[in-house]
Amino acid sequence: MEIKKILIANRGEIAVRIVRACAEMGIKSAAIYAEADRHALHVKKANQAFSVGPDTISGYLNAHRIVNLAVATNCDALHPGYGFLSENPQLAEICARRGVKFIGPSAQVIHRMGDKIEARTAMMEAGVPVVPGSVGNVESLEAAVSCAHDIGYPVMLKATSGGGGRGIRRCENERDLRRNYDRVISEATKAFGSANVFLEKCIVNPRHIEVQILGDSHGNVVHLFERDCSIQRRHQKLLEIAPSPQLTEEQRKYIGKLAVKAAKNVGYENAGTVEFLLDQSGEFYFMEMNTRLQVEHCVTEEITGIDVVQEQIRIAAGHPLRYKQKDITRRGFAMEFRINAEDPKNDFLPSYGRITRYFAPGGPGVRTDSAIYTGYEIPPYYDSMCAKLTVWALTWDQLLDRARRALGDMGVYGVKTTIPYYLEILRSPEFQRANFDTSFVEKHPELVNYSVRHPMSDLAAAIGAALAAHTGL
Ligand code: ADP
Ligand code: ADP
Ligand code: MG
Repeated sequence: MEIKKILIANRGEIAVRIVRACAEMGIKSAAIYAEADRHALHVKKANQAFSVGPDTISGYLNAHRIVNLAVATNCDALHPGYGFLSENPQLAEICARRGVKFIGPSAQVIHRMGDKIEARTAMMEAGVPVVPGSVGNVESLEAAVSCAHDIGYPVMLKATSGGGGRGIRRCENERDLRRNYDRVISEATKAFGSANVFLEKCIVNPRHIEVQILGDSHGNVVHLFERDCSIQRRHQKLLEIAPSPQLTEEQRKYIGKLAVKAAKNVGYENAGTVEFLLDQSGEFYFMEMNTRLQVEHCVTEEITGIDVVQEQIRIAAGHPLRYKQKDITRRGFAMEFRINAEDPKNDFLPSYGRITRYFAPGGPGVRTDSAIYTGYEIPPYYDSMCAKLTVWALTWDQLLDRARRALGDMGVYGVKTTIPYYLEILRSPEFQRANFDTSFVEKHPELVNYSVRHPMSDLAAAIGAALAAHTGL
């Protein structure tokens, strides 16, 4: 089929990212927005934009209404982005029924992989090693206690339908498990609409290694190497690196093949990510599969030169992949920083408000994916991530230097951001030696002790003054 116009069922930087892919492919883009987003960048950049009502969140979550809009405005396809409805099988199903091509896998695959128990079962059947854990959901507290006894503490209590780092608790002992059980169930019910929970062995201080895969509608699956997302806070990723500077070439080959095998076994179509934990003894375990575009796809694009979003659109249009595995090469290293409007010194409390000045960094090897501009007011209703900075360099050491330079060049004023915190991470000798795991952030509380030293540079101040004189901003 030919895709001429795409409805983007999302907001923020990812909606802007998708608009850019459409623009380069000569495809029209249609944005949606809640009233609070009337002045958002994705609304300004898309060819068309349609209001989905006054409510801040529900407009982005109403699958029927969004697909109706796609039909009414002659969109041939719909891109769900990440978050919101991206992993909701109902959206894919409604699209299929209404003749709008969903840019992602089938409703059936989304449903199956969205349930972590079903995903684990599918992987075990395919011969992919999974984190040891409960067989299916745990049905009661007593069942959980008995299961944890067999697995051995510490254990992870996890929401079966969870995502975004929520609905996960580490339990050191039985008392912990008894205390957390109801909490996780209530969190899971509220956030994911399902009370199902299960147990996994806690892999102590693992590395989070995930593989980007692409599968077409003709049964071809390739991988685009791995990303290292071990730098996390409360199970949420802060920065991501490709390829992982912590893997040997042999491990890289092994994990790539394993991910392709996993994807093939579930009949995967479109872009997806297979997440693994790497334990201290060098074993990989399947953790989950994300059936959508990921926040951190940019680092993969930088090292491979492949535009993942454009590939998603080509796959959805029915084209076979243009690359065989052997055609996919990588060069150098890339690192992405999630620029969150948060105050690291205040327990990463969101810091919403007006961006009084914004300067995007540039120069060699620097990319920004952002949803902000000078004068933009970050609404308090959504994710605090407002921009991503991605840097690329030929070697790991050059990447560290470039990252420091680019973060220093970036100016986001008016709200607190995670930029100074990332500069501290870059100063850490462990990080520089590429020796870190998911406990890094927790083990380094001192990283928030930076001095707030952001008097605007002379240039920034001069530009700001000139701008103010002309626009009154
Ligand atoms: P990635 O793996 O792409 O880094 P994240 O886990 O950071 O993805 O999630 C990206 C966004 O999607 C975040 O805003 C997160 O809150 C949201 N999200 C992810 N999974 C779910 C889910 N199951 N339900 C609701 N929101 C989710
Ligand atoms: P989500 O769907 O929210 O992304 P994941 O299952 O991918 O949840 O887990 C998120 C993070 O939690 C992982 O990247 C890892 O840091 C940590 N984690 C999850 N399961 C385990 C485990 N069994 N052992 C150790 N850490 C884990
Ligand atoms: Mg995950």
